[in-house]
Amino acid sequence: MASHSDIPNSAGSQRRRAKKGQAEAAEKYSVLLPTYNERENLPLIVWLLVKSFEESGNNYEIIVIDDGSPDGTQEVAQQLEKIYGSDKILLRPRAKKLGLGTAYIHGIQHATGNFIIIMDADLSHHPKFIPEFIRKQKEGNFDVVCGTRYRGNGGVYGWDLKRKIVSRGANFLTQILLRPGVSDLTGSFRLYRKEVLQKLMEKCISKGYVFQMEMIVRARQLNFTIGEVPISFVDRVYGESKLGGNEIVSFLKGLLTLFATT
Ligand code: UDP
Ligand code: MG
Repeated sequence: MASHSDIPNSAGSQRRRAKKGQAEAAEKYSVLLPTYNERENLPLIVWLLVKSFEESGNNYEIIVIDDGSPDGTQEVAQQLEKIYGSDKILLRPRAKKLGLGTAYIHGIQHATGNFIIIMDADLSHHPKFIPEFIRKQKEGNFDVVCGTRYRGNGGVYGWDLKRKIVSRGANFLTQILLRPGVSDLTGSFRLYRKEVLQKLMEKCISKGYVFQMEMIVRARQLNFTIGEVPISFVDRVYGESKLGGNEIVSFLKGLLTLFATT
């Protein structure tokens, strides 16, 4: 904690503190962390999130939505609740693996923030970018801010060629067919206004990998504004990806459905 050098009882410093307090109270960021077998990653990601928010002075809470991981992720989350406080870390588990889309819906129901940040819990998304998301949101008063691997200083590290081609291909095809004008459609490191995320979740029909892309396409249809922040994406640190081979087929199906219906 930084030490305060303010002169005690000085009216000026009290005013400054009050002003700062008001600014902090105005926005609250709820981070949704869906987890499935992320026992090793969770303490690290939470530590980095807390550090980032404490340093930037933004008000926050971290909601862990665990889908009954057999590896003991929930016990780790309970420990973290004790360490950081149950107002900062909130474990909101579900009985079994019910999928990412419904995990977000479940998380939003417990969120008290007016902004929602979604990210993976596997350390692919570094919390150090969050202050930039927040800055970008304020700069343009955006409804959505997307992390992008495909613009500016953004990039991908640790993926093999096949994984890179799949991601690039998905973005390229979508850009041609639907022209959403956002450079990273399949990423899942984003900031949403809470009510905007709620609305988009209601509209989205797809499940799986294609879901993140549909969110942006729907956001465009509904005339929500979207900002972008370059991020470097690093392949997960521990554990296994849940993205299977048949996701490619369902992505193409979902893309064509959107192309035909929007
Ligand atoms: N995840 C989840 N439930 C699922 C699948 C994934 O909670 O059914 C979580 C997972 O623990 C991770 C994030 O969602 O935090 C993204 O999953 P993953 O990293 O496996 O996908 P990838 O990044 O490889 O596409
Ligand atoms: Mg991942």
